[in-house]
Amino acid sequence: MKTFNYEAPSTIDQAITLMSENSGQVLLLAGGTDLLVQLRSSNQDIDLVMDVKGISELNQINYDEVSGLVIGAAAPCSQIYESVPVLENFPSIIDAATIIGGKAIQNRASFGGNLCNASPSGDAIGAMMSLGAMCSVVGLDGVRNIPIEQFCIAPGKNALASGEMLISIQIPPPRLNSGANYLRFTPRAEMDIAVAGVGASIELNSDLDRILSACIALVAVAPTPVLAAAASASLIGKKPIISAFEEAAGAAKESINPITDVRGSAAQRKHLIGVLTRRCLELAANRAGYVSCKGE
Ligand SMILES: Cc1cc2nc3c(=O)[nH]c(=O)nc-3n(C[C@H](O)[C@H](O)[C@H](O)COP(=O)(O)OP(=O)(O)OC[C@H]3O[C@@H](n4cnc5c(N)ncnc54)[C@H](O)[C@@H]3O)c2cc1C
Repeated sequence: MKTFNYEAPSTIDQAITLMSENSGQVLLLAGGTDLLVQLRSSNQDIDLVMDVKGISELNQINYDEVSGLVIGAAAPCSQIYESVPVLENFPSIIDAATIIGGKAIQNRASFGGNLCNASPSGDAIGAMMSLGAMCSVVGLDGVRNIPIEQFCIAPGKNALASGEMLISIQIPPPRLNSGANYLRFTPRAEMDIAVAGVGASIELNSDLDRILSACIALVAVAPTPVLAAAASASLIGKKPIISAFEEAAGAAKESINPITDVRGSAAQRKHLIGVLTRRCLELAANRAGYVSCKGE
């Protein structure tokens, strides 16, 4: 590992100035659970590692019934799953925050770092994508918002321009009679990344017997986490029952063309997406208040 400078700004303005004044490569550090692994194995010339954990806006977790949830880009998983409003309103965020690594990793690893790292298997990305999250980023030209499904553009590459950083992720408040879930498959119970993962959210009508809207996100089966638009659309107007979920799971499976790698084959990933999508939708519907009758 080559030597580099280290700075820990305490405001967004200081961070933007440091980035703009540095002509070499600047890398941001939140929890460091991806970055330190990458730095150790890299021979790149890095001028500056900028630790953003000391910036208060990046550590916030705020919830408002009208505007929804704001997760600061550097807030670690443990802070997220210990937050009462998150526990009360965003069960699929808890699903993802509690499966990333083990306890030690969860005390450092942030959802912002997971997103900026842009791994196809980012668990937090899948959960947030199925909830329609929006990313707030800042640079010398000011603040702009990027829909989460446009944030990851290739494995390890995100949509941030040079000199920009992620400040926070906004998630809309849960709609009435809605539920969400995140599930993944790993060969080991913990400390492994997804072979395939699915995030799903469902909104039901007031009688809890029809689906008003649905959103399914697929993880580790494409160069970036992706939305399964046709599968989601197939659910609208249907009863929240197994046959509808199986049809959507089939559409999700058909929408992907995964790779074979050391973690799993393309065929296994397709199979997993079918199984996980069905289960994830069923659990999301239960969380929305639907109680299934035997056989449905
Ligand atoms: C043992 C172990 C187990 C793991 N298990 C899982 C798992 O189960 N699921 C999973 O999805 N991941 C897993 N990971 C990967 C990692 O922990 C997560 O991706 C984590 O969420 C990264 O967050 P971080 O705060 O540590 O990011 P960092 O390592 O600090 O940063 C990650 C990347 O984002 C950039 N970055 C960070 N913050 C910003 C910002 N505000 N603006 C712009 N760029 C920024 C950094 O420069 C870097 O490129 C694991 C890692 C380890 C070491």
